[in-house]
Amino acid sequence: MRPARALIDLPALRHNYRLARQLAGGRALAVVKADAYGHGAVRCAQALGADAADGFAVACLEEALALRDGGIRAPILLLEGFFEAAELPLIAQHNLWCVVHSHWQIDALERTPLPRPLRVWLKLDSGMHRVGLSPADYRAGWERLVALPQVDSLVAMTHFARADELDSARTDEQAQAFIATVAGLPGEHSVSNSPGLLGWPTLRNDWGRAGLMLYGATPFNTVQAQASQLQPVMTLESKIISVRELAAGEPIGYGGSFVTDRPTRVGVVALGYADGYPQFAPTGTPVSIDGQASRLIGRVSMDMLTVDLTDLPAAGLGSQVELWGRQVPVTEVARHLNGSAYSLLCGLKRAPRVYV
Ligand code: PLP
Repeated sequence: MRPARALIDLPALRHNYRLARQLAGGRALAVVKADAYGHGAVRCAQALGADAADGFAVACLEEALALRDGGIRAPILLLEGFFEAAELPLIAQHNLWCVVHSHWQIDALERTPLPRPLRVWLKLDSGMHRVGLSPADYRAGWERLVALPQVDSLVAMTHFARADELDSARTDEQAQAFIATVAGLPGEHSVSNSPGLLGWPTLRNDWGRAGLMLYGATPFNTVQAQASQLQPVMTLESKIISVRELAAGEPIGYGGSFVTDRPTRVGVVALGYADGYPQFAPTGTPVSIDGQASRLIGRVSMDMLTVDLTDLPAAGLGSQVELWGRQVPVTEVARHLNGSAYSLLCGLKRAPRVYV
């Protein structure tokens, strides 16, 4: 069997979820959209089991139905709500919670009779300027929804744009806009994603919404006390299937983009961009070989990549290579790419997941 695989550590997932709930100080939705950020939504939701009875969050109805098919009975929130009114009866039938972020959705709710009323999370645009009712419109939207027989109860929510920037004033400004807008409205509040929960723990969250932190990756570029308690869930790994000794001045791989600057022992790893490793990871991106630090060299191919074994004389054919996981934080790989841990994890492709 080809050795490329993504190990998924389910006890680590449970540990991270419990931390999210503790930081929320109330309850936490486990955000398992995009196939649980590449980790497998149904398996992760099942593994969270009774722990995540608080609930789950996904992007859309299709993702929620996959969880219901997988036997998940806990509450599920649709973070993008619905895209057309025709989805509403199914949303009600499967007892899903639904974000409302735009006036057209309120119009659609008004004209659609439902078999049972919905729990609606009304989103405020407190400064991200993507979706959500503006502060000026919010209370009018709330009043319209409260008056509908299609609506059972309302949760006030907003979403942060820059909570990963610990020295930015923007998160406090967004939080203040939210508090001022919803002041006096009855019901629960939900403001924080992972960086919000980890970095801004004093904000009121009846419901935290934990995505990235659930998978054990820090959203921050600097060391952060709470984030250092997280345990990485995915380990992307494979083995060395060929070794060659090259003199100085030899190019490696497609395009010859890396040329050896010293006599170099090169390890060829059975894992490439078709498995989900980024094609444009630069030479120098960290890897771990049999537990020792090394680096990627040369351009990543579809099925293989090359690593530097020169300073690791004990490493060779069959050595275990970790591309990210406990020894090489995925955030560290992302930093070398000017990318994000979010997109690396969601980008898992051919490498099969193995649950441990
Ligand atoms: N809440 C909302 C509305 C989201 O869109 C997302 C993800 O994009 C999350 C929570 C989870 O964010 P994070 O992965 O940073 O925890």
